[in-house]
Amino acid sequence: MMAHKGEHSGQCSFLTAAIVICGMLATFHSETKAAAIPAPGLEFRHHNNEEIPQILASVHARCPNITRIYTLSERSVRGLPLYVIEFSTTPGYHQLYHPEFKYIANMHGNEVLGRELLLHLANYLCEHFLAGDHDIQKLIKLTRIHLMPSMNPDGWQLSTDTDRNDYLVGRANNNSVDLNRNFPDLDRIMFSNEEAHVNHNNHLLEQVDRLKEPIQPETKAVMRLIMQVPFVLSANLHGGDLVANYPYDASRSGAMTEYTESPDDQTFRHLAMTYATHHKNMANPKRSGCGDDGYNFGKQGGITNGAAWYSVQGGMQDFNYLSSNDFEITLELGCDKYPLASALQEEWENNKKALIQYMWQAHIGVKGHVRDAVTGQPLPNTIIHVKNVTAGRNDDILHDVTSVHDGDYWRLLTPGQYIVTAYRDGYQPLSHRVRVYDRPHMEAQRVDFHLQPLLQLMQSANSDSKSDSEYEETYDETMRNNIVNKLQKKWLFNKYKESISTN
Ligand SMILES: [Zn+2]
Repeated sequence: MMAHKGEHSGQCSFLTAAIVICGMLATFHSETKAAAIPAPGLEFRHHNNEEIPQILASVHARCPNITRIYTLSERSVRGLPLYVIEFSTTPGYHQLYHPEFKYIANMHGNEVLGRELLLHLANYLCEHFLAGDHDIQKLIKLTRIHLMPSMNPDGWQLSTDTDRNDYLVGRANNNSVDLNRNFPDLDRIMFSNEEAHVNHNNHLLEQVDRLKEPIQPETKAVMRLIMQVPFVLSANLHGGDLVANYPYDASRSGAMTEYTESPDDQTFRHLAMTYATHHKNMANPKRSGCGDDGYNFGKQGGITNGAAWYSVQGGMQDFNYLSSNDFEITLELGCDKYPLASALQEEWENNKKALIQYMWQAHIGVKGHVRDAVTGQPLPNTIIHVKNVTAGRNDDILHDVTSVHDGDYWRLLTPGQYIVTAYRDGYQPLSHRVRVYDRPHMEAQRVDFHLQPLLQLMQSANSDSKSDSEYEETYDETMRNNIVNKLQKKWLFNKYKESISTN
């Protein structure tokens, strides 16, 4: 069984983005306002590439205060813009303590259900916000949500114009590259770090020294988005089976199929289960399977470890996890990659609850800020390390996250007891012991860090501050910045801060 797995997009680069967005919004407003208000129900049919921006504009016209449309830094190979609609009470801006979430669909051009689902989701969020749905209002007030209906409009066009039932035609982009194999292979770097006992387990892009093939424009656009926006959670929407697939996608040993646990296996299983159990059929053990082999993921709760199914290198899911603070899973939304239009309404009903429940998962675990205890200054790029001490365990989770621009951070965790530690060069590490509860549709609990600068400590005493020398070596800020800067000359020139000012 091949196919599927993958996803996601980046923000516009500076100038081009500002120009495109401004031009685009101006056009949409004037052309679509009359048609867009009052709210038209969105039809259940396949929408073409020209209709995507029209539908998004119609949503924006109805919900101008909580939405923004933007395009990514690159266009598709055939020159089509890659559109994203954002939902937030401060469109265009990251808000302190508000997690960022994304859905990306139609990365494989011939897997089209996710594309229609995201258009309907955008419509639904707007309508329900306006109608006073408290749950949706709360979700949008607490979360910045990015929806990208199509990452591969060229493949969609090819598939739509030729054989919609072909398993492969339209899957790749217009250069015949499978976008879900086109991301830098960070799994290989992670596994070799593990073997060499190197403690570096996050933000691995700086270690990339070679690429299997040129990065495609659609991939590049999404990589930039991932680097620019501090995403916490995402999913990548595919088709061809019915299962929620979680990291790692690549096997550790290189075997074709092998369960390959990530350090966050427990959390990823929870995330995948959340989608599967809120979907109408995904977790049903009695449903039928998709493949000729008759294999049925329903029998295992509708979820699978990626590499246990089949090993994939260069996929978007693992790239998110290993290059940023984002946790991503891959959703296979049905056996049929290109369902008939007549099936779309039922599919929307099958997925609606799961799509919303999954977005709420951006609020599990803990969040907070890291600041200098003396000056109160926010401390971005601080390492947040977690040890699971639930029921007598003493397990380091060997995947750290980092605080972002304003010193805020999020750490997705399932209920249990943890020791959360903030490490930063020049500061005394600080740990908090926390108990994480299951609190559905509530904000993550706050755990803040106020770090003491080491200089002050050393002045007062000859303290033995050999904190974690290994950590300090691995996360040397200057080294990291140098490498990242070099990489950015190649493909990544915008960083967090810049995206904030251009948004
Ligand atoms: Zn796919």
